[in-house]
Parts: sequence; C-alpha cells; structure tokens
Amino acid sequence: MSGVTALGGILRHALDLLLPPLCLSCGAIVGETGSLCPACWAKIAFFAPPACATCGLPFELDAGPGALCAACAAGPPPFRRARAVFRYDEGSRSLVLRFKHADRLEGAPAFARWMLRAGSELVAEADLIAPVPLHRRRLWSRRYNQAAVLALALGKLSGARVEPALLERHRATPAMGHMGRQERERNVRGAFRLAPSKATQVKGKTVLLIDDVLTTGATIGACATVLVRAGATAVDVLTLGRVVR
Ligand SMILES: [Zn+2]
Ligand SMILES: [Zn+2]
Repeated sequence: MSGVTALGGILRHALDLLLPPLCLSCGAIVGETGSLCPACWAKIAFFAPPACATCGLPFELDAGPGALCAACAAGPPPFRRARAVFRYDEGSRSLVLRFKHADRLEGAPAFARWMLRAGSELVAEADLIAPVPLHRRRLWSRRYNQAAVLALALGKLSGARVEPALLERHRATPAMGHMGRQERERNVRGAFRLAPSKATQVKGKTVLLIDDVLTTGATIGACATVLVRAGATAVDVLTLGRVVR
C-alpha cells in the first residue's frame, strides 16, 4: 500500500467517525456502517434453493438433489460449482456499481458474510481463494480490484488462505457490457495466466474463484480453465451477483 493510499485510508476512517453511515446502495443515512436502508434491502433478490447443482441457477420447482439446468446438462462448465448471493438486476445494480467504481468499500465485510452463507460448502472445501484479476491498466484507473477486496474479506472472515495475485490478466480485453456468451468467450480466450511466481501452488489444490458478478461465466470460465490446466483438483466459483436471463 502506498503512503498516499494509507493516508487516504486514515483520513477516511477519521471521516467515518464524524459522518453518519450511508446506505451501500442509495446513499441514504442508515444506522450502521456497511448496511442497506430498508427500501434497498427489500429490492435485493437473494438466492435460495432449489438451484442447479452445478452453476447455482435458481429453479422455480424443486427437481431433487443433484438436478442440473439445461445448459449444465448439455455440457459442464470449466468450473465444478458456482454459487452467488443475489440476482444481479435493477434492484442490486447500484449496490454493485457503487462498490466497484465509487470507492464504497465499507460494504466488503457484509458482502463477505453474505458470500460465506451462500457458499459455505465451497469455502469450507477451498485450499485457496483467488480473485478474478483486472488488467493492470484498469487497476490503475480504478485503484482497486473489487474481486480482490471481496476475496480478502472472505479470507479474513473464514480463515481460508487467499492468494490475491494468483492469476494475471495479461491481455487487456474490451468491456463486454453488450456482448453475448460466444462473443465474451472469444474476447477472454487466452487473456489470463497463472502468475509465474505462483506456478507451483495450484497443483492438487481446490481453488475458489471470487468475482463481483457472474454474467455468462465466460471470464470466470477462462480463469477456471487456466487453473485446471495448472493441475487444480477442482475450481469452484463464488460471486456476489449473478445475471439470470
Ligand atoms: Zn438505500
Ligand atoms: Zn446449471
């Protein structure tokens, strides 16, 4: 951490003591730091069973344990299981975007608690936790990787080992906001690699990949493929939000 960032952190902490805590989603005054106002809380669609045993896609009806969605039944994704806390939609977008772009990091401990609840089994089985990396250039402009912030908060909460720099995004990829699944897969193919200094740390390990939102699974799938090729026994995925089409 640079001196400037550390000083910024101290100043922010000092300000936090003076200013009232704000809703993580809308900015309204709330009773507790890192929480949501009742109106925003009511808008978050938290996932609950039943769901696809592989990708966690919620089901309308319970099809029994081990049931798979059509996509996973047609072909398994590169990861073993994926779980998420809530549906990424109109009700949760502002919460995620503020965390990602607006320095609203005080939500991280609460997000980690939610993620631990949604993915308790995955966290318990993980030998190490790693975030989906940002390209260096994007990291500079954004100042932090929101996935790494989540991974570190989850590690702190669970005691699991976190490797924030396990993977590298060595090729910058254009923003994928409006791309479909195939376009996204092409876009991220070959964009990730294992950090050279971590090359031997993955073999025989169960890795839990962390990201803020799972959209089509193309990005996180590309990361999982790198880890599996490096000898990981299994790769699970835990995200805060998940797009459900
Ligand atoms: Zn609110
Ligand atoms: Zn599925």
